Amino acid sequence: MLELPGLIDPHVHLREPGGTHKEDFDTGTAAALAGGFTMVLAMPNTLPPLVDPASLVRARAAAHVKARCDYGIFLGAGEDNLELVPNLASQVCGLKVYMDQTYGPLRMGSLSALLAHFKRWPGPGPIACHAEGRSLAVVLALAQLFDQRIHICHVSLGVELELIRLAKQRGAQVTCEVTPHHLFLSQADLSAIGPGRAEVRPRLAPPEDVAALWEGMEWIDCFATDHAPHTLQEKDSAEPPPGYPGLETALGLLYGAVQEGRLTLDDLVRRMNTNPRQIFGLPVQPETWIELDEGATWEVRAAELHSRCGWSPFEGMKLSGRVRRVALRGRLAYQDGEVLAPKGYGQDLVAAVQPIPA
Ligand SMILES: [Zn+2]
Repeated sequence: MLELPGLIDPHVHLREPGGTHKEDFDTGTAAALAGGFTMVLAMPNTLPPLVDPASLVRARAAAHVKARCDYGIFLGAGEDNLELVPNLASQVCGLKVYMDQTYGPLRMGSLSALLAHFKRWPGPGPIACHAEGRSLAVVLALAQLFDQRIHICHVSLGVELELIRLAKQRGAQVTCEVTPHHLFLSQADLSAIGPGRAEVRPRLAPPEDVAALWEGMEWIDCFATDHAPHTLQEKDSAEPPPGYPGLETALGLLYGAVQEGRLTLDDLVRRMNTNPRQIFGLPVQPETWIELDEGATWEVRAAELHSRCGWSPFEGMKLSGRVRRVALRGRLAYQDGEVLAPKGYGQDLVAAVQPIPA
């Protein structure tokens, strides 16, 4: 058995409020524990989106009674919440800016609102950016102009990682994450996954880009699942929403890469614990660890996963290393397929006990 620190996923969609038929703080954090994650950072593109005190109070209340692992919550940058954001900054793990179209109504279309957010954001968390292609160049420039710390979500192309490398080498305060699906799947897998199910943003990339991400691994700060559950019915519909579930398959995929010698164990721990903790200013979780059966192999079967969405793009894949036990703050939270942490055990490690200002 291999003992590792509790993993941190800095990018999950738990769909609460507004999409609880896909996932909620209960099933999403159960899936997290089953995957070896003891802390997750939840994205704000819910319905309604988390852009003001009322929506944040509602999401936090749901998380407080339902979450089984620890968590933080992002605030969304909208075009109408410029005045509210500075007051809410200390309650959230970061400000999320959507530069490109994805799931939900949050998208920064206005340049003046974008500038104002970059000018006003007080931290301490970074500005997390969904910024694909040319949008990436825009947020890198803004980070330099306004001396802001930014975190680039789900980098998927070689040229994007190259731009991030250049910015880092020039001293920009930029970090980035890559998802397991952009490291282990490519456009070559589209037909096997199926047209609706394969929809994801950023899209699966050509195999050359997947190779470029692996080659540029030293510039990748975190692995983040971008766990984005939608039901099978929705994925197989005429208008499939983009997103893959990923919490329960990430470690098996990445640990397989360790076994193949494509990553070291230290590479993995830095990107799934040390770096996300540092980037988002998260506290150490005492008496928290996971136990991995290094020799075990298992096949992904969606029916056995804890996520409510009921499918996986990795269905049928053989993964290496199985999470046997998870301890969270001194308590056995998961063991051999069974989630033991009760609903409400998870704590908001960012907002702690601070009230949200009215
Ligand atoms: Zn996302």
